Amino acid sequence: MATEYDLIVIGAGSGGIAAANRAASYGARVALIENGRLGGTCVNRGCVPKKIMWYAAAYAEAFDEAEDYGFSHSGLTFDWNTLVTRRDAYVRRLNDIYASNLNQNKIDLIRGTGHFMQAHTVAVDDTHYSAEHILIATGAYPSVPDIEGAELGITSDGFFELGQPPQQVAVVGAGYIAVELAGMLRGLGSAVQLLLRRHAPLRNFDDTITAALVTAMQDRGIALLTQATPKRLSQNGDSLSLELEDGRQLTKLDTVIWAIGRLPATKHLDLDKAGIQVNSGGFIETNEFQETEIKGVYAVGDVTGRAALTPVAIAAGRRLADRLFNQQTEAKLDYNTIPTVVFSHPPIGTVGFTETQARKQYGDDIKLYTSRFTPLRNGITDHKPKCTMKLIVTGDNEKVVGCHVIGEGADELLQGFAVAIKMGATKADFDNTVAIHPTSAEELVTLR
Ligand code: NDP
Repeated sequence: MATEYDLIVIGAGSGGIAAANRAASYGARVALIENGRLGGTCVNRGCVPKKIMWYAAAYAEAFDEAEDYGFSHSGLTFDWNTLVTRRDAYVRRLNDIYASNLNQNKIDLIRGTGHFMQAHTVAVDDTHYSAEHILIATGAYPSVPDIEGAELGITSDGFFELGQPPQQVAVVGAGYIAVELAGMLRGLGSAVQLLLRRHAPLRNFDDTITAALVTAMQDRGIALLTQATPKRLSQNGDSLSLELEDGRQLTKLDTVIWAIGRLPATKHLDLDKAGIQVNSGGFIETNEFQETEIKGVYAVGDVTGRAALTPVAIAAGRRLADRLFNQQTEAKLDYNTIPTVVFSHPPIGTVGFTETQARKQYGDDIKLYTSRFTPLRNGITDHKPKCTMKLIVTGDNEKVVGCHVIGEGADELLQGFAVAIKMGATKADFDNTVAIHPTSAEELVTLR
């Protein structure tokens, strides 16, 4: 195996693999260093297995509603083991596909933990590898609170290792992961308490969406505990007890999940030897071209602390390779107007400014269009989850600067609207598009 390369990538997650493959497609000699499974968080402990669990919870909900459609399913059972076994087998298939693609692209996969010896030299065990360009794509890992007994809880990583469904769960946190885990676990039958240190989950989302999410979670039986800050976690026989700072006690828990954010994975990198500083959150700062302060050393993905989303890391990694190895000198990722979906139940799709952000940007020069309705699917069911939509427009031409949806199908409908909004669509463009009937999405082109 060579030790001199054009590009060394540290971390074989979404961003690292995408950059490595793209660079190799231009003929660059590429080495990729990884100490775990290929695919990183997204494939192994994030998006992919999460979405499988989300589908499982959606099946459970569909079975509940199916009776109102005339189906009888007495004797319905659910086997966690079947779900988890098939999920993990699927993830392993993806690991193998990644390995075979790297092989086909003639990328040297170096197994081990890479750390800097100097800016352009990285060591794995006793071997030193050098390259003109080095990309750091080591991602992030779940944070755990600094309280007594924290080790008795698990994180999202542990969630994917659960051998059986928990019965009584406390999920601590208010972001994407807390909301998604709470929804999945509740859907699969667990009693779930979601502990928020402030007043609501997803506080940075549009207020209308946050409020609708709270209603939807409560409607599905998730207990939301607000102003709830954990103080101590302890084992009581077979169960766990969680004491909160205000004295509240949660008892008889079998699982506590910390979902309070993620930290950059830089510990083993010896960044100081490369001359790279981290910011106050420990993240590696980059400019718009993913360049760190050291020439020829770059970073993409969660380790940069910017928009911690798989497609963002992939897009940034590919553009970097386009720029370095395919003469696309201005290639870079535009971090504005990034669409995102939270796989809550029901899902949330959002792109552009929230109302608060739009007011900050445009003052009173904004107009809101909102709708709240029961999707047709639930027209004949007793359970009537709602779909809520909000468009934010600005200027005389009513340019759409924000689109927010919570409801069945929000995850799939958003991508196309995100294209339109990225292109600068106006409300009139939306209105001039003939509706697709009967769908929830059509509501977005008929808002008044
Ligand atoms: P987030 O940053 O989304 O949310 C963590 C939240 O937990 C904070 O915003 C904060 O909310 C709360 N929190 C922080 N510290 C504490 C504490 N000590 N005690 C209690 N609550 C605390 O982190 P996640 O780990 O959920 O997700 C990380 C990132 O991964 C996301 O931001 C997203 O970019 C990505 N992701 C994307 C997914 C998707 O695309 N569907 C799915 C999962 C993750 P508050 O201030 O309101 O208390």
